[in-house]
Amino acid sequence: MFRRRIRWLGVLGVLCILVLGQSCLRIVLPTFPHQLELRIQGQSHPLLLQFYGMDQRVVRELVGLFRQSIFVSTRLWGSFRQSVTIRVFPNHRSLEEAVNRPHRWLRAWAMYDELYIQAPRTWKRGRLRSLPKLLTHELTHVLMYQRCCLRGDWFRKSIPFWFREGMASVTASQGSWRMSRKKLSRVLQTKFGKKLYQNPSRYLMRFQREAYSLAHWMFFDLLDRCAGERTKSYRRLENLLVGMKQGLSFNGAFHRACGFSHQAFRRKFSLHRRRGKR
Ligand SMILES: [Zn+2]
Repeated sequence: MFRRRIRWLGVLGVLCILVLGQSCLRIVLPTFPHQLELRIQGQSHPLLLQFYGMDQRVVRELVGLFRQSIFVSTRLWGSFRQSVTIRVFPNHRSLEEAVNRPHRWLRAWAMYDELYIQAPRTWKRGRLRSLPKLLTHELTHVLMYQRCCLRGDWFRKSIPFWFREGMASVTASQGSWRMSRKKLSRVLQTKFGKKLYQNPSRYLMRFQREAYSLAHWMFFDLLDRCAGERTKSYRRLENLLVGMKQGLSFNGAFHRACGFSHQAFRRKFSLHRRRGKR
């Protein structure tokens, strides 16, 4: 199979060679033989779906789901600023190779104007139920990148894991997939929980559920605390993303949008969790 390396990942690869030697140069992207252009009502940019012939039926189902997911995510966060290319990978291995992440649980990967997804045809039957929410989750990541960043700088901007994943998880209503607040609270009181709270993305390999639950509930609380009233909260958080696009750091944009600092929010969240509140 002919494979090509995409441009910016190629730059990353060069950096890998310089810093780590050749071992991390495994980012490969297959060439997809089929492409479908999808126009979505209310969106000025089309969605491009790329896939293999064996996934033609899957793609037909995905089209309807994408329409629903786009409705849910853009209603809250505004419209896409650029077209998005969705690549349907024929198996798990090809997805892992394309993103260079050895995560067995990985099913999709979002970037500024691209979304990779492992063909649902290859998923375990039970997991297919999670597909609509997963698509909304991933499209919310794409929307976040397009709202906060430019094509040339999105991968350089520092956005905390809890905000990135929490925004996607809450938008996709994935609360039922996460640990309950009470259970998370108990975890955060342990020695491990304190370390998890400091750097959740570090524990993704073994404690994915804990890390994503933390992100979900932190973002949920932010929605309440940033304005108190739900619709206003979304607008303020949208302003946070706009602030970043204007050149502010995440912390600077957070403070301007919410009226309190990121550090103050973290402190308050951690105190509430320790006391087992909410
Ligand atoms: Zn995510």
